[in-house]
Amino acid sequence: MTTVDGPDDADSTLPTADVAVNLARIQAEIAAAADAAGRRASDVTLVAVSKTHAADRIRPALAAGQRVFGENRVQEAEEKYPLLRDAFPDLRLHLIGPLQRNKVRRAVRLFDVIETVDRPELARAIAQAASEEGTAPDVFIQVNIGEESQKAGVAPVDAAALVHETVDVYGLHVRGLMCIPPFDRDPAPYFAALAALARQCGVDGLSMGMSADFAIAIRHGATVVRVGTAIFGGRA
Ligand SMILES: *Cc1c(COP(=O)(O)O)cnc(C)c1O
Repeated sequence: MTTVDGPDDADSTLPTADVAVNLARIQAEIAAAADAAGRRASDVTLVAVSKTHAADRIRPALAAGQRVFGENRVQEAEEKYPLLRDAFPDLRLHLIGPLQRNKVRRAVRLFDVIETVDRPELARAIAQAASEEGTAPDVFIQVNIGEESQKAGVAPVDAAALVHETVDVYGLHVRGLMCIPPFDRDPAPYFAALAALARQCGVDGLSMGMSADFAIAIRHGATVVRVGTAIFGGRA
């Protein structure tokens, strides 16, 4: 949600200062998009992406009933979430940013879902650390769906092999595929491609869609949408 189409719809598409108002608006838009696609709103999980926002900004979302949050850095999440989780034990946290080997142990202690598994060594490290820590995170396999040279994610052609290795060799619970489509293109073909790839891989979950395009993603089958700006406002 960095741009709006014109002056007329600017007021209705830009987030307000009130997190609870924004959340209600996004939930209504999710319900409408699901309904239009013949799907149930309850089949779409809203991950409220709180990266760069302080705990004081996250609390109103919790007060409004939101329980699933996303962060892209292990250290930042460690600074904000343990206290919030003490107050809200049913809070669930998704890691949506790249994970370095040396932070895997800390990640499996804190995150319920790791959405960014894109190589076998990372799957292996997560499985080993999780078993030692007594945790069992769900994971998504991140796919570089636009085959962009600078972007994280397994190549689409290698996705099925990584899904199967992650399940069969490392014993992790793979919920589905995740992608971030190319920034400046129509996302719809990439969402459709990820959905087709998930069918080939035999997984159901699809984590795709952000503030600007979550309704399109839901039309293409998203089961998880990751929305930051439209809930919490712009990031510095
Ligand atoms: C920041 C981020 C989001 C949320 O983006 P918004 O445009 O602020 O909604 C979603 N997914 C990932 C992987 C991100 O890093």
